Amino acid sequence: MSQDTASFQDFKLNKQLFNAIDDLGYQKPSEIQVKAIPRILNGHDVIGIAQTGTGKTAAFVLPLLMKLKYAQGHDPRALIIAPTRELVMQVYENILELGKYTDLRTVCLYGGIGPKKQAQEVAEGCDIIVATPGRLLDIYSAGVLQPKQIKTFILDEADRMMDMGFMPQIRRVLELLPMKKQNLFFSATFPEKVEKYAYEFTDFPEKVEVTPETMTAELIEQSLYHVPNFLTKINLLKYLFENEDFSRVLIFVRTRKNANNVYSFIERKISEEVRVIHANKAQSTRINAINEFKSGNVRVLVSTDVTARGIDVEEVSHVINFEVPNKYEDYVHRIGRTGRAEHHGIAISFVDPSDVYHINKIEELIQKKIKVIDLPKEIELMDTLPSEKKDMEQEIDRQKHLENPDFQGAFHEKKKKNLSGKARDKAFGNKPKDKRRKK
Ligand code: AMP
Repeated sequence: MSQDTASFQDFKLNKQLFNAIDDLGYQKPSEIQVKAIPRILNGHDVIGIAQTGTGKTAAFVLPLLMKLKYAQGHDPRALIIAPTRELVMQVYENILELGKYTDLRTVCLYGGIGPKKQAQEVAEGCDIIVATPGRLLDIYSAGVLQPKQIKTFILDEADRMMDMGFMPQIRRVLELLPMKKQNLFFSATFPEKVEKYAYEFTDFPEKVEVTPETMTAELIEQSLYHVPNFLTKINLLKYLFENEDFSRVLIFVRTRKNANNVYSFIERKISEEVRVIHANKAQSTRINAINEFKSGNVRVLVSTDVTARGIDVEEVSHVINFEVPNKYEDYVHRIGRTGRAEHHGIAISFVDPSDVYHINKIEELIQKKIKVIDLPKEIELMDTLPSEKKDMEQEIDRQKHLENPDFQGAFHEKKKKNLSGKARDKAFGNKPKDKRRKK
């Protein structure tokens, strides 16, 4: 069945689900849905390779709801594990939307708030649990969760789980579940280490895939500017705000510190319609920020990669990589926030000298050259701050060292030159002069 000819009717879902799909206005199933839904309904274990924005959540939620049908018994029958609170909530919202005409009971478990209310919800009985691994294990330890009825286990964003070091916890979760169950394993990317886990966690799985290349090539216009430093990036941002139609912009940075920096520059120099989210922000602040962004109250959201997971916002007009990610799959995740579900999107990257290496690697990953745009002449070029310069030099040295382990590094050389003779000998393991002379 090709995606063009497929319709939701082909899946033989029940009326409650068709009505919910209708209400949401989904016209036809997305590629991952066409590939995954029939296999999941047939009871196969499935490995799904699809990034956020492809409709992958509904690809597992729809068949799950179809199989569970209605509220039944006390103990949960399905478990979905996701890496972050935001993603847990996004999956939960999808279940509520698609399951609105069913009486299925779903409970969300995630950290950042006290466990009491969540434990109570589990104790009251439910059909589906959506959880981050740590909180799930906490609730299990509290003795309120009986996992023996769980017949469907879904791992969402498995590659992210691995990056965040969750795999030992997931193994512990799996030990609690019945051996005989359906396992669904979803991941945005499929490097070797993820593949290893995928086959460990599933039995004779069917692998379905929508390639990020298709997605990025078809829907998202990608470009980059070479920009010398942070302050010039701010000037460029200001210029773009004044000259482009930025209706809803997600700005990505690498660190919490820079998230705060970029946010305050934007607020002071560009627009007050901006919010920031990162892992140090209280959860309620993060949720409020996302909701304001979703509702259109604020048009700019600054985020790190971790917190951006699971922000399910329609029609993000622009994604700006204020800093290029050094985990290359994150580039695909980031730009997948625009061009979602058949909307066209624009992704712009600001590349400083220490990012050139990373952008080359990203181009290898997406198998595409990103269009370079010259910095407009109106942009005032700022001096690089000494601390930033040092960081860039160190980073470039690190990259050269990665490519050639014998490389000592310009930064290293410079440091060597500035040290006094004795200190230099000590720092670099040289023999003291007098000993050398004796030889
Ligand atoms: P996801 O990849 O699960 O993050 O989904 C991305 C967005 O696509 C969400 O806002 C979904 O509501 C939406 N979506 C999912 N399936 C479809 C579909 N078949 N047609 C249109 N939109 C969809």
